[in-house]
Amino acid sequence: MDFTFSEELLEIKRIVREFAEKEIRAHVMEWDENQTFPLDVLKDLGQLGFLGVFIPPEYGGAGLGYTEYVTIVEELSRVDGSIGISVAAHNSLCTGHIYKFGNEDQRRRFVMPLAKGEKIGAWSLTEPEAGSDAGGTQTVARLDGDDWILNGQKTFTTHGTYGDICVAMAVTDKSAGHHGISAFILEKGMPGFFPGKKENKLGLRASDTSTVIFEDCRVPKENLLGELGNGFIDALKVLDGGRISIAALAIGMAQGAYEAALHYAKQRRQFGKAIAEFQAIQFKLADMATEIEAARLLTHRAAWMQDQGMQTTAQSSMAKLYAGEVAVRVANECVQVHGGYGFIKEYPAEKFYRDVKLCTIGEGTSEIQRLVIAREILRS
Ligand SMILES: Cc1cc2nc3c(=O)[nH]c(=O)nc-3n(C[C@H](O)[C@H](O)[C@H](O)COP(=O)(O)OP(=O)(O)OC[C@H]3O[C@@H](n4cnc5c(N)ncnc54)[C@H](O)[C@@H]3O)c2cc1C
Repeated sequence: MDFTFSEELLEIKRIVREFAEKEIRAHVMEWDENQTFPLDVLKDLGQLGFLGVFIPPEYGGAGLGYTEYVTIVEELSRVDGSIGISVAAHNSLCTGHIYKFGNEDQRRRFVMPLAKGEKIGAWSLTEPEAGSDAGGTQTVARLDGDDWILNGQKTFTTHGTYGDICVAMAVTDKSAGHHGISAFILEKGMPGFFPGKKENKLGLRASDTSTVIFEDCRVPKENLLGELGNGFIDALKVLDGGRISIAALAIGMAQGAYEAALHYAKQRRQFGKAIAEFQAIQFKLADMATEIEAARLLTHRAAWMQDQGMQTTAQSSMAKLYAGEVAVRVANECVQVHGGYGFIKEYPAEKFYRDVKLCTIGEGTSEIQRLVIAREILRS
């Protein structure tokens, strides 16, 4: 076992941190309050290779691994989780799904512009009536000549409005259950494919979360992604990777909240001394630091396993479950350390408190992660 970060990884960490501090930090509250999706920032991240992190250079990507990927998502999320979730959804969900299961033509046509950041990716699994039970998908696709005709609605799609390319799951054979759901690649501008309501969210308000609607949407046969009927099965494999990035999102935000609490505890004076001198505050800081470190280790192990081509279903869920819950605890304590100022928007604590909650919900709730982990434990 080697717990040291390579020089290359440290350099990537430094570049992302510098970018986040220079290009993101000053705008975080303004974007949050106005619910502004900063498309230009995403494009800049594309220039740096961060929208095609683990895609090989021949398909326009940076050719890095999951270890680098979690570091990138963590560093961005340390400053703004909205950017972190955007980068995560683009890389591991949309681009990752097409790269893993697409044919050569699809890799050239879709992965290439996504990996270069010329196009923004979305991934639509969740529906109004099919969330945790995503196998209960109701969107349907019926073959008509050389096209599939999609009808239905997806909800909570990250980049539902701004996405140029969207991978969507739809039922192609109702009688086949989970083996009757297929994945399709949709492009902005296809007739009958359009965004619906943009959600007004508790947190991560600068990320774009929208409904996506398919109304007699004609999708050419060649846009079927993966084997017919395998879309849901492939989606679960995509989530094995995606959940690691939500763990990284959680760790990044937890780290940001912890640093804010530490800084404040050293500045704020009560009873004639810095509150950091009170053992009650020290214990909070100690617990925060310890839990973040444990979550980071779980996440890096899952990332390393992905890089080795190993199956990570249990490890991804463990990392996501633990990191998500740690982030919620850390952000809660961050507000507490700030006292009344933790409740006020001039300080970063309240935003972390709102943003982290997504981590126990998105890409499978904590309850669903426990179900997955239990199933894997009992299977082995
Ligand atoms: C900001 C944001 C971004 C998102 N981005 C995307 C995206 O890009 N693409 C996408 O497809 N989806 C996305 N989602 C959707 C997300 O993955 C779902 O919200 C999540 O999977 C939960 O589904 P649900 O909201 O329908 O909750 P439900 O499934 O209705 O769950 C409600 C409650 O019931 C519990 N529950 C449900 N079933 C069980 C069970 N069997 N046992 C125990 N408890 C259970 C849940 O844990 C939860 O506490 C996003 C969501 C948000 C909020």
